[in-house]
Amino acid sequence: MTLNELYISSVSKLEKIDNSSTEARIILKKAMSFTETDFLLNKNRILTDEEVTAAESMINRRLSGVPVQYIIGEWDFFGKTFKVNENVLIPRPETELLCEYVIDYLKDKSSPVVADLCAGSGCIGITVKDNIASACVYMVEKSSEAYKVCCENAESILGDKSTTVINGDIFCIDKLGDLPLFDVIISNPPYIKSAEIPDLQSEVLLEPEMALDGGEDGLDFYRLIAEKWTDYLADDGMFAFECGEEQAEEIKVILEKKNFSVIFVKDYSDVDRFVIGKRRKI
Ligand code: GLN
Repeated sequence: MTLNELYISSVSKLEKIDNSSTEARIILKKAMSFTETDFLLNKNRILTDEEVTAAESMINRRLSGVPVQYIIGEWDFFGKTFKVNENVLIPRPETELLCEYVIDYLKDKSSPVVADLCAGSGCIGITVKDNIASACVYMVEKSSEAYKVCCENAESILGDKSTTVINGDIFCIDKLGDLPLFDVIISNPPYIKSAEIPDLQSEVLLEPEMALDGGEDGLDFYRLIAEKWTDYLADDGMFAFECGEEQAEEIKVILEKKNFSVIFVKDYSDVDRFVIGKRRKI
């Protein structure tokens, strides 16, 4: 069987999936360790039985509903490739907009201190450090499995540019060690209402529940972060949150009670997806 024949049969196997041709290509490239150019130049190559078996088993996993990101074990975010597995939320394109906003805000500040709470794969904190070399970045992640992924990503993407990755609960701040005052505290916390979790798309359900479940009204993390982390913000500090559709107004109320002034930033679909809170000047 040639690569092209396997590609055609894979696309037709995946026909029920949106973007079946893109996903078949991503999977075959990974199975063969091919770059895009290798893929194009090797279309007529006869594959070995091992290559066909390896690729078909990956295609079958996709067919059974496993997200392509977990099958290939990596995903691109803000121009860098992050390791991902079932223990971390898959980095989403809209989260790149949150990073872009914060990077733009920080670009003229000298040595800013930044926290990424509920860091997961580390995509936010690592991207900030990668783009603002003078930043001092702390990432906090409760799951030890996700923490491992975050550490691996920090090492593979940032090399010797160091960050502080803490395996701990953001609500037990006294157990997190010495913390500085932060110029920006960023978080894309779990924000799905508990009762809505069972109705999520089956693929999303394969992501860690801990990364999704935001409590009864989905807002537990915003409330608790505003409650417990405000003391760790510098006087002119800023919270930068990602949230679910229709949550921005409620988060605004939470932050205004803590004396923050709030603006919303929209995502690619024109939804108020990011909530930015700055302390009101007294
Ligand atoms: N910060 C990570 C991300 O944005 C993980 C978020 C989470 O686990 N809720 O992808």
